[in-house]
Amino acid sequence: MTTDQTLADLVAIDSVSSRSNTEVISYLEERCRSLGLSTQRYAHVDNGGLEKINLVACTSKTDQIELALIGHTDTVPYDANWKEALALTEQDGKLFGRGACDTKAFIAAALTAVESIDIKKLTKPFALVFTSDEEIGCLGAKRLADAKPFTVKYAIVGEPTSLQPRRAGKGYCLAHVTVQGREAHSAYPQLGASAIFRAARLIERIEAIAEELQNDLHQDFDPPFTTINIGLINGGTAKNIIPGACRFTLEWRTIPGQKGDYVLDRVRSAVRNLQRDDPDFECEIDADRADDSFETSRDSDLVEFLAQASSQSSGTVAFGTEAPSMIALGAEAVVFGPGDIRVAHRTGEFVPVDQLHQCVRILKLAIERFCV
Ligand SMILES: [Zn+2]
Repeated sequence: MTTDQTLADLVAIDSVSSRSNTEVISYLEERCRSLGLSTQRYAHVDNGGLEKINLVACTSKTDQIELALIGHTDTVPYDANWKEALALTEQDGKLFGRGACDTKAFIAAALTAVESIDIKKLTKPFALVFTSDEEIGCLGAKRLADAKPFTVKYAIVGEPTSLQPRRAGKGYCLAHVTVQGREAHSAYPQLGASAIFRAARLIERIEAIAEELQNDLHQDFDPPFTTINIGLINGGTAKNIIPGACRFTLEWRTIPGQKGDYVLDRVRSAVRNLQRDDPDFECEIDADRADDSFETSRDSDLVEFLAQASSQSSGTVAFGTEAPSMIALGAEAVVFGPGDIRVAHRTGEFVPVDQLHQCVRILKLAIERFCV
């Protein structure tokens, strides 16, 4: 089967993250078995009661995989007005469809690459890994990383990078902060304590922390430092009531080498400082998400191989990926794939045909380079 046909088949299966991915997994399982790979399902029921599956297809029964190609099976939702979302269409050398770019193109390329190889010639274990729920927080890959059913030495994580190997990515962390006050009639401020004034003092300190973070540089990123954002704030109940609570979100994206709680520790110490002047200052910080940053060395064999094969020097990635989960499984991980992330998640998402076919060639070379 051609890569384009495989991609058309994959796009035709609606695999939005809010649905179970059993249909797309069954399709992939059958394809992998016909290629002579042995498959293993890792299934669980998600919070919405839907079955979600990670599928691992390997050349041998092993817990030590030499090279793994990872593709997530889910997609972001599509607009009901996009009539061809599930019908792959070609125009001007581009293939359009939901998931065409992110990340079914990589999966189609990986299947064709394996198909074009005599897998009996492979002396080291090779695997295709198909995950669930990447678009809603890399949940499937994190489950694999937690369960650790195997180790991986080299991992190519499929994402649209226009075939540029991306060897490092920032982390993503989120916390919800609630500052408490004491309600009172606003004509008598001395009877209450404003949670909003308190939150404002804390936020000012957080802004100063954000400025300090600009001194710790990782030049491969743009911007080259850890960034902080307070994206949502909410407090008070009426114009004439001293506000009793103020809540805000605190989001930060860490450069590799800086732990996720580095920022949190600084914010906590800012809170302690404020408590020195205002002993009633009460603040709760709920850490909600802490996705690690990742970095694979520039002189890793995999980075060097992909840079040479794609004729592009390695770079970094600005969005969250499954690479940290693969690193947790022991891998040197690189994010790589056809298509441009800037057209992903949009109506009219597409992958350029030439990149799709070039990806097949490069993945085939990778399998031969690392597993023969
Ligand atoms: Zn993706």
